[in-house]
Amino acid sequence: MVGDFYCDEVFSGRTPVEVVHETADVLAFKHTRPHWAGAHVVVVPRRHIPSFIEFAEQDATIVAEVLAVARLVAALVTAERGGAHIVTNVGAYQESKHLHIHVGAE
Ligand SMILES: [Zn+2]
Repeated sequence: MVGDFYCDEVFSGRTPVEVVHETADVLAFKHTRPHWAGAHVVVVPRRHIPSFIEFAEQDATIVAEVLAVARLVAALVTAERGGAHIVTNVGAYQESKHLHIHVGAE
């Protein structure tokens, strides 16, 4: 099933999330079904951008902002847990077809 958890659930307000950091264009929140026990934050653009390898030139500044927020969250997680995974999936490995970066720690 091709889904978009972020537009369908998070930005629609259907699934409440615990916000970690936000800017005008980017939201970082605690994963609703965390993979990592120590920390698992998802960083997403508020505007629909399909993936890390599929975005229009005019969205490049938003993608840069997503990376800047992921960097900030990764620094927070590293301060708390000693390290962090920073992961984004594309193609068949991308479950939700809306760009998102996972930042987490065991
Ligand atoms: Zn979307």
